[in-house]
Amino acid sequence: QQQKGKQQQGGKKGEAKAITPKSEDFSRWYLDVVRECQLADYGPVRGTMVIRPYGYALWEGVQSHLDRAFKDTGHQNAYFPQLIPLSFLQKEADHVEGFAPELALVTQGGGKELEEPLVVRPTSETIVNHMFAQWVQSYRDLPLLINQWANVHRWEMRTRPFVRTLEFLWQEGHTAHATPEEAEEETIRMLRVYEDFAINVAAMPVVAGRKSCIESFAGANCTYTIEAMMGDRRALQAGTSHNLGDNFARAFGTRYLDEAGQLQYVHQSSWGVSTRMVGGIIMTHGDDAGLRLPPRLAPIQVVVIPIVKKDADSEAVLGAVRRLEGALKAAGVRMQVDASTDKTPGWKFNQYEMKGVPVRVEVGPRDVEQGTCVAARRDVPGKEGKQFGVPLEPAAFVAHIQGLLDEIQGSLLAQARAFRDDNIVDVSSYDELKEAVAAGKWARGPWAGSDDDERQVKEDTSATLRCFPFDQPQHSGVCFFTGKPATEVAIFSKAY
Ligand code: AMP
Repeated sequence: QQQKGKQQQGGKKGEAKAITPKSEDFSRWYLDVVRECQLADYGPVRGTMVIRPYGYALWEGVQSHLDRAFKDTGHQNAYFPQLIPLSFLQKEADHVEGFAPELALVTQGGGKELEEPLVVRPTSETIVNHMFAQWVQSYRDLPLLINQWANVHRWEMRTRPFVRTLEFLWQEGHTAHATPEEAEEETIRMLRVYEDFAINVAAMPVVAGRKSCIESFAGANCTYTIEAMMGDRRALQAGTSHNLGDNFARAFGTRYLDEAGQLQYVHQSSWGVSTRMVGGIIMTHGDDAGLRLPPRLAPIQVVVIPIVKKDADSEAVLGAVRRLEGALKAAGVRMQVDASTDKTPGWKFNQYEMKGVPVRVEVGPRDVEQGTCVAARRDVPGKEGKQFGVPLEPAAFVAHIQGLLDEIQGSLLAQARAFRDDNIVDVSSYDELKEAVAAGKWARGPWAGSDDDERQVKEDTSATLRCFPFDQPQHSGVCFFTGKPATEVAIFSKAY
């Protein structure tokens, strides 16, 4: 039956398999997974995507965890208009320079040429400051801690579903503080919120650190990032937090009266995580069979499949399955029963495996007689991942499944962490960096190069400076590129 299922999944016998093996062509594997798992489809406009229900459910998982974390750290949600006067962006010189090539402009409305072109927001610092300047009067109005869930448009040239699209969904935090110190503290606090989410919910062992000047956000004093290693060992910038200093405050006159009655500019942060995170989850955990989803985010954590070969068995098996369903749902486990009769169990096994469902439960007539069922882990392939004799008794069953989900969450993180650590190379010369990057790995070494030096490395190797990690390893203190004294180690790699 298993065999039959495989063939059906890959089309008719002899046809190519639906998912290209990861090791054969990672890019094609990714696109195959996105399509076959019905996560997203291409939109009619180049670079746009339609997020399908299963992909959207994953994004909703990201949203619900982050939204809670933002509220727990004192932020409130608000919404700002998508159309922004072009003149707003022009008020901050670096900002407009950085974003100009990616802007989508509205020049007509209601059949008439507009007096001023409107920008379809690529990010909202400008319009937020336009409002903050009106909302903030005194030090008592600070800190102002706002988050927005929204779509943004950036006219990207090279696109890939979830990872880089013309329009994407994200959240953008925007905060205003009385002092530079408070703005910096907030910038780091929110990066740590992202780091915690990535590691403990998405099971992505990200490296948190500071971006170089070149790689920082246009208009920021400093950008912090979480960098994740994908299955092909390329880096993915999975979230960023910017210290904006008073750059936008000066451009928009966002000032407050301090306790001494003096007018002061506010100091600000902004931070964002997008639907790119979904791409990161796919590319961190997926394998040749398809998705592997961390239980804390999986839209379906457990699928229960009744195995009924004879009508006579149907009542007993389906009765047992319904009892498991009731118990799991009461315990808050996201579960689904697949009792459809037009598909074989083997086909179903393959389908839910491809979709990355962490646990599959099988219940057959023999199991029911023995008061047990079978549980199969998605993170452990083949027979080894199968557990026999799992009790059908509801309380014991739920406890077992919950334990299993926790174990799988931990095992996905451990696997990804081991993979990451195996693929970071400490380098002490430029040749060593080139060798590491050519082998597809991350190179980590002491860096004291200039912006031009950094561009040179990119030109020579296509690797970019991903970050100066917060966790600095022991190092020689000699820049591997310039030979000058270096106080910090940086990570370079190819990236999405
Ligand atoms: P930024 O405000 O430019 O730092 O963007 C915040 C985050 O959004 C980045 O760290 C990326 O993870 C993500 N992001 C940026 N551009 C795109 C894009 N074109 N598609 C999807 N996600 C993006």
